[in-house]
Amino acid sequence: MFIGHFGIGFCAKSAAPKVSLGSLFLAAQFIDLLWPTLLLLGIERVRIVPGATVVTPLIFDHYPVSHSLLAVFGWAAMVACVYLVLRRDRIGAIVLGLLVLSHWGLDAIVHQPDLPLYPGSTTLIGMGAWSSLPITLAVEVPLFAIGVWLYSRATSPRDASGRWGLVALVVFLILIYAGNLFGSPPPSAEAIAWVGQSQWLLVVWGYWVDNHRFASVQAQSGVTTRSNALGEPP
Ligand SMILES: [Zn+2]
Repeated sequence: MFIGHFGIGFCAKSAAPKVSLGSLFLAAQFIDLLWPTLLLLGIERVRIVPGATVVTPLIFDHYPVSHSLLAVFGWAAMVACVYLVLRRDRIGAIVLGLLVLSHWGLDAIVHQPDLPLYPGSTTLIGMGAWSSLPITLAVEVPLFAIGVWLYSRATSPRDASGRWGLVALVVFLILIYAGNLFGSPPPSAEAIAWVGQSQWLLVVWGYWVDNHRFASVQAQSGVTTRSNALGEPP
């Protein structure tokens, strides 16, 4: 699962207009952003087995800290609390916590049974959509498309950076996804970890785009400030 997680992040802007897209991405991808560091530290392990599934050659041998359900509840609570303390925005904090949890739920649809319920658990969850490319695409692509659509409705560009920065971000995410699906397997677990670390740049890109757009719908007043094609208030 890659663009599906970003899709959910885009979707969430409508529910929490005050939260930057960068924070929404950070929450939706939180456990995949932790994972590369845990790999590099040797705390978690992944293997590359070409043909392991139709979609990915990765076998997730051991990732209890980033991807066990119990740990994900902990990360969700932590992200929500930190945001609440920093921004005093309860809705935003709840949405961010739910986004962290959503990652595990979406992973459970596509992964082979490899997601533990808690560290040390022998019960492993995963519905295995990755064994079919059409099913994987049918899950992820609509999620991403709906997310981008909702985000572009929930916000309006302030300037050219806000307009084209978003277009470039969407195109870039699609290109990375296509590269993941159709490119050759990564050379090593270490390479996976470093590519994984580069995802932080997508979070930064999210903050940058969001800074160049304003929320169309003011959450509290319910007043729509987006102007229509004639430039008149709707
Ligand atoms: Zn994941």
